[in-house]
Amino acid sequence: MAPILVLWDIDGTLIHSGGAGERALVRATRLAEDADLDLRQIDWAGRTDRHIAEMILEHLGRPVTLEAANAIVEAYLDSLRDEIGARQGTILPGIAAILEYIDGSHRFAQGLLTGNVARGAETKLAHFDLWRYFPFGAFADDAIHRKDLGPHALRKATAHHGTRFSPDRTFVIGDTPHDITCGKAIGAHTLAVATGKFTEDALREHQPTAVFTDLADTDAFFAVLEEKAASA
Ligand SMILES: [Mg+2]
Repeated sequence: MAPILVLWDIDGTLIHSGGAGERALVRATRLAEDADLDLRQIDWAGRTDRHIAEMILEHLGRPVTLEAANAIVEAYLDSLRDEIGARQGTILPGIAAILEYIDGSHRFAQGLLTGNVARGAETKLAHFDLWRYFPFGAFADDAIHRKDLGPHALRKATAHHGTRFSPDRTFVIGDTPHDITCGKAIGAHTLAVATGKFTEDALREHQPTAVFTDLADTDAFFAVLEEKAASA
């Protein structure tokens, strides 16, 4: 039987970048569009980096072209490398232990399912020495809308492990309603964690498989995985 597949969101789920991601977007908008950006005016949480770049252009009243969006993303990646080192980010509770455990177990496999472009994901996670846990992932490079990323993650998991993963033994973990929608779109279980911008109640409205305050109780986390995968 194929391992249980765990697909992770990054921001607000594995880590907080200490505002580095937000700060890098503001700097990128200054560099690429010569404009001041108030991120609070954009509903960016849970969106892919490429989608956010388009939303910024729209918000500024600039033409939304692939070229202009790519220029913002490139400027963002340059700025992120500076910002990530300058900010006090953190690995979220329970994450280090869970990633290490899964890494050493052949009953589980893990990858990324994130709105970050791959180079941004690497910059953020390498800073916390977590990049090494993820041999594959679906990124904003694969699709502009987060809900379309799931099939890419399954395809890459299959390519990496040489076995087919079934959606009912797959868990998508994230901190926003977009993560829940994205997981449901591939028929996966969805675990929502309230370590980002959304409360447990707000997440529960979107009916994920389970909601956690955080993942500090690693036994409780693995108990949900075992239970749901066994009933699949
Ligand atoms: Mg997130």
